[in-house]
Amino acid sequence: MKRRKLLMIPGPIEFEPAVLRALGSPTTSHVAPDFIETFGNSLELMKEVWKSPSGQPFIIAGTGTLAMDLAGANLIEEGDKALVISTGYFGERFADLLGRYGAEVKILKAAVGQVIPEEEIEKALKSDHYKLLTFTHVDTSTAVKVDPEPIGKLGKKYGVLTILDGVCSVAGEEIEQDEWGIDVVLTASQKAIGVPPGLALLVVSEKAIEVWRNRKSPVLNYYADWTNWLPIMTAYAERKSSYFGTPAVNLVAALEVSLKLILEEGMDERIKRHEKIAEAFRKSFIAMGLEMIPQNKNICANTLSAPYYPEGVDGAALLKEIGKNGVILAGGLLPEIRANYFRVGHMGAVNQSDALATIGALEAALQKCGHQAEAGVGITAALQVLNS
Ligand SMILES: *Cc1c(COP(=O)(O)O)cnc(C)c1O
Repeated sequence: MKRRKLLMIPGPIEFEPAVLRALGSPTTSHVAPDFIETFGNSLELMKEVWKSPSGQPFIIAGTGTLAMDLAGANLIEEGDKALVISTGYFGERFADLLGRYGAEVKILKAAVGQVIPEEEIEKALKSDHYKLLTFTHVDTSTAVKVDPEPIGKLGKKYGVLTILDGVCSVAGEEIEQDEWGIDVVLTASQKAIGVPPGLALLVVSEKAIEVWRNRKSPVLNYYADWTNWLPIMTAYAERKSSYFGTPAVNLVAALEVSLKLILEEGMDERIKRHEKIAEAFRKSFIAMGLEMIPQNKNICANTLSAPYYPEGVDGAALLKEIGKNGVILAGGLLPEIRANYFRVGHMGAVNQSDALATIGALEAALQKCGHQAEAGVGITAALQVLNS
């Protein structure tokens, strides 16, 4: 019997075999010519995935939270005003983080399952002089998706730097960093980028680099300071060796493979695949009588879904049963409703078979846990979308 379970959580995800092979290949020196080439290529490929030909990419060992820290530490100085647009857990984290670097933070907090209307964001920007704003493309605690384009434009209109937490969206949702005028788009390797955990990835606009260069005070985080990292990124881009902190050599090799696979599929195709699989999941959940956290379908993420447990079903027992059926799903994350819902990741290499296996495992587990739904309705609804 196959013992490996299907990992369908919102990161880490299932990875492509070629990516895992690169991870398992012999570790080279960080100044070996092959590795310099790999690093340089990865920087270039990131600009294509982010759609930011003018941006400055960074690849740094760490998690998504380090990517957030890199933005906060380098762009905030004591007393700067920052606006955080929060649609869940990761918005709150950004607010805490910016505060740590001395920012005066105002947080616009959306009700659970909702987004902040554009007018409200504009009103906030009119009422005060913010240096930057942050927002979460897909909040992984709620599966709520925010449309970045209008927020990027508002940032330009009011001269406010815009920072997009794209940890659960880059390479899974549409992003046009340059076109939308977003100053920092950050992510981590283990989500839709499709590389095991351990890399913080971000692309920074020329404007944001200029703001950082004009700082009056030193960056308060030594490891995160772009003063240390920008020369390294520049050196690798020019195919030269350099050193500040040892790069995660194998992860960078895996990143190059994954970025190539992403671009081989094509960004448009890839986003379409995510949309279709996400819709199949949502339709199947609804057919099985489950309700989603996002309050309307325009704000449902394509990289994960967050359904509430149905009435009368014990959540822990359900997830355990799904596990026995060979699929690993994630529990809730948002503190106020943590015990009431679960999360299904469907990003990166995810395919139709993964979706059907997951829906089948859920459907079987729901039956075992006493939920009344007609047998097979989930799979039927998913197939209607997948076969269309
Ligand atoms: C996962 C995630 C993070 C944090 O990333 P880590 O790698 O766990 O530090 C931040 N923001 C969002 C939207 C995420 O999904």
